[in-house]
Amino acid sequence: MLKREYDQVCSVARSLEILGERWTLLVIRDVFTGKRRFDAIQADLGIARNVLAARLARLVEEGILERRPYQRRPPRHEYLLTEKGLELWPVMVAMMDWGDRHLADAGPPVVIRHKGCRGRVDGRGHCERCGERLDARDAYAEPGPGTAEPAAAGPLAAAVGATGSDARSTRAVGQLPSPSWIPGA
Ligand SMILES: [Zn+2]
Repeated sequence: MLKREYDQVCSVARSLEILGERWTLLVIRDVFTGKRRFDAIQADLGIARNVLAARLARLVEEGILERRPYQRRPPRHEYLLTEKGLELWPVMVAMMDWGDRHLADAGPPVVIRHKGCRGRVDGRGHCERCGERLDARDAYAEPGPGTAEPAAAGPLAAAVGATGSDARSTRAVGQLPSPSWIPGA
């Protein structure tokens, strides 16, 4: 049985105690990209429902996600990123950039762009065009050259996501609503 805690006085280890659990970062990625409901995340990741339920519960407990009702009968909830959760955006961007440079022979599956000028966002969260330092609310994701099928489910759909209440939504990519990193924020 693996110990859950690393018992180290180290903020990397402490972060990993939460974020290093299998699937956790992908759950967070899905919420960033617009999948806020249990069934949408479950369908995207294809993981067991009890595992997803446990991951979501932990993320709520840690104050990274907030569980909010969107329907009363039957009761249904969706998950939104808190401020603490939104602060994981640079982690996402940095991991994606590293993977793009070292693990993506066909090119980046997803490209992150600045909403303001449509410039590409680099691995440190800066816009390559205008130089602005961005956060999750300033950026959106779109399919990159390394993506497989434009309308495929899975990673692409996750990356493009549904923006729900994002009033700026346009149907730019097939049937998918306009991509955004932080719908409903
Ligand atoms: Zn820009």
